[in-house]
Amino acid sequence: MSGALEFVDLKSQYAALKGSIAERMQRVLDHGQYIMGPEVAELEGRLAQYTGAKHCVTVASGTEALLIALMALDLEPGDEVVTTPFTFAATAEMIVLLGGVPVFADIEPDTCNIDVSKIEATITPRTRAIIPVSLYGQVADMDGINAIAARHGLAVIEDAAQSFGASYKGRKSCNLSTIACTSFFPSKPLGCYGDGGALFTNDDTLARAAREIRVHGQSARYTHTRIGVGGRMDTLQCAIVLAKLERFEWEIAQRLVLGERYRALLADVSGVDLLAVRADRDCVWAQYTVFVDTRAAVQAALKERGIPTAVHYPKPVHHQAAYARFAAPDTFPHSIAAGARVMSLPMSADLTHAQQDRVVDALRTAVNR
Ligand SMILES: *Cc1c(COP(=O)(O)O)cnc(C)c1O
Repeated sequence: MSGALEFVDLKSQYAALKGSIAERMQRVLDHGQYIMGPEVAELEGRLAQYTGAKHCVTVASGTEALLIALMALDLEPGDEVVTTPFTFAATAEMIVLLGGVPVFADIEPDTCNIDVSKIEATITPRTRAIIPVSLYGQVADMDGINAIAARHGLAVIEDAAQSFGASYKGRKSCNLSTIACTSFFPSKPLGCYGDGGALFTNDDTLARAAREIRVHGQSARYTHTRIGVGGRMDTLQCAIVLAKLERFEWEIAQRLVLGERYRALLADVSGVDLLAVRADRDCVWAQYTVFVDTRAAVQAALKERGIPTAVHYPKPVHHQAAYARFAAPDTFPHSIAAGARVMSLPMSADLTHAQQDRVVDALRTAVNR
């Protein structure tokens, strides 16, 4: 029994890629184009090709991608956007920042993704878009969501911050909706060494709008055609993601194997309930999240044995003070219940089977105590 495990093991990943990362960063330092250097377009080309989406626009973060996506769609004050209350706050935050109104639809209790059957009842004449979140790395019911959107003339933005690399009916996350937004926050499935993100679309007009909004609404240098932001991803971070792409396919394969292995090892552990993964898609496990009762005690017992855990997320967005005005506290019972029971275990492509066995043994003991 060795020391504490990493929750996300970025050190082993760095050790494996050290040479390429150094080489790629050195190239940027040598050419000196720190902003919008050649690595930016190179990465956008590679990511567009990977997802199958026509356009990829890199931006400063996943949050910025959501903001720019909503700005590209011309979201106006008072416009409503349907989303899930069980997500990282940024999803709802960017809607509110633009003066929009987040309208929540509860989740499916077994996947924690938005429940498509609850969406249509939330649509009003002010609804402009739907933002499903591909939580934990599993795409929501995108076909059903797209069908509702088509009936009502709405845009769909996939919040794919946790699902880059995931597949849905043979297609890739980030190429399933009007726009998709992902994050390169270090611990996401594809991460950089700081903040970064990207948005994807097959729509030429939206892609052009996003590119302009990213640089203060400029359609040409010092020609400010629209209101924008300073939302670029810097060249060094793009260089790092390019290096990480070298083993990304291997990493995704590892994540799928480790997810399946966790499932098999935990299947018979009473006191631990597992997330459902639908048959027509996979989950890249940005977090390997399970459900437990007496969570705080389980977390403490695991911590004692050097196993870090986290909670994604302890409460739904409408239970956060800043968002309380958007929904009554007793609404969305499945999101509230999930918030009380979810717990994420160590997960990364470099997690060894021995480490995983150690997590499972400690968890089995902790829940039976
Ligand atoms: C991480 C995350 C974001 C925000 O991404 P940043 O790059 O940290 O800004 C948005 N939505 C979800 C679901 C996330 O997990």
